[in-house]
Amino acid sequence: MIGEGTNHGKSIQTKKPMEEQTYHPITQAIRTQTERTQEMEHATPLFLTSSFVFDNAEDMRAAFADETEDNIYSRFSNPSVQEFTDKMVALEGAEAGFATASGMSAVFASFMALLKAGDHLLSCNSIFGSTHTVITKYLPKYGIEYSYVPADKPEEWEAAIRPNTKMLYIETPTNPGLDLIDLEWVGQLTKKHNILLNVDNCFATPVNQKPIDFGADLVVHSATKWIDGQGRVMGGVVVGKKELIKDIYLFCRSTGPALSPFNGWVLSKSLETLDVRMERHAGNALKIATALQDHPKLSWVKYPFLPSHPQYAIAQKQMQNGGGLLCFELTGGLESGRKFLDSLKMLSLTANLGDTRSIASHPASTTHAKLTEEERLAVNITPGLIRISVGLEHADDILNDILQALEKC
Ligand SMILES: *Cc1c(COP(=O)(O)O)cnc(C)c1O
Repeated sequence: MIGEGTNHGKSIQTKKPMEEQTYHPITQAIRTQTERTQEMEHATPLFLTSSFVFDNAEDMRAAFADETEDNIYSRFSNPSVQEFTDKMVALEGAEAGFATASGMSAVFASFMALLKAGDHLLSCNSIFGSTHTVITKYLPKYGIEYSYVPADKPEEWEAAIRPNTKMLYIETPTNPGLDLIDLEWVGQLTKKHNILLNVDNCFATPVNQKPIDFGADLVVHSATKWIDGQGRVMGGVVVGKKELIKDIYLFCRSTGPALSPFNGWVLSKSLETLDVRMERHAGNALKIATALQDHPKLSWVKYPFLPSHPQYAIAQKQMQNGGGLLCFELTGGLESGRKFLDSLKMLSLTANLGDTRSIASHPASTTHAKLTEEERLAVNITPGLIRISVGLEHADDILNDILQALEKC
């Protein structure tokens, strides 16, 4: 029930049985499929059902006793959700996984299942806004302590580890500043102190970066972003070590953040194109970042694969490409940021990222407007910071829209 590559009901769909054959993760993301039904469908069917039937009382007893892996109820497991989970497990090189209704329920479950009162969570400071709210507002209600370390000052991290530190939580690249954390270094740090390493890999995606290769115990995702990639459904997933995922599964099975089978089906199909989509997103982003880097209205442009990125060497070491996000600072500050958004003709203004359509955002006046100026600056959100989620449109059309909007700033 908790994705383990090719467990219950799942097979790799090839013409001949694949027994001894091993396939690349991206092939598994395309060919992993729920066992073919008697209808001989080619594309994967959608199992839109809340519960599953048993032939007799004994089979039902055995399923409830965990003696078999039969599906019981879609809050626990569902084939359309399992197929998505299995593909994510393959892509991340994990042992097991569990899919959830949103990225936030994946993040929350990874905390609640593994931390208890008296434990300390250490987190890098530039993290997704709702994750920050969970850590600072809700975890303390359950007696779970937290503290932050600055993403751009790794030299301060080791001293922040306490005797009761149970987990280190990070994002790389960070949101929205695109700072990078050296996964190899942080993997060694957490091993040395025997603490769990939990990585939000949403921005990079597993075709670009595999935190488990560097020692991560858990990887969480918002599948709503690049994984869906077309701005349609919400979803999330946690993958990692089998014994940890077991605890997360048991927590979710009882508390109910299950991914809807429909969304699982959509996301499973999305994974079939993740690798090619990310290659184009990253190709477009690099072209645009390169073209913008000396623009007179910008004080800087940041993109992990631009040689001018302060952590370019880390990007080269741990990422296959620079990803689909870039950011820049308008010399005109806050007012220019608003003017830039108003002047765009094609790019969307919307609270999402990782879509086929390019999206511009101005954190200081929107997502991070509730923070004080000082709090924003602590996480490198400057007044004129613009984040672009680069879509799949022609790179020239995206660039030209940005250039014409910059003219008006
Ligand atoms: C969007 C996002 C989340 C939360 O995911 P939802 O699917 O919106 O719940 C978590 N982490 C990062 C980095 C995100 O961008």
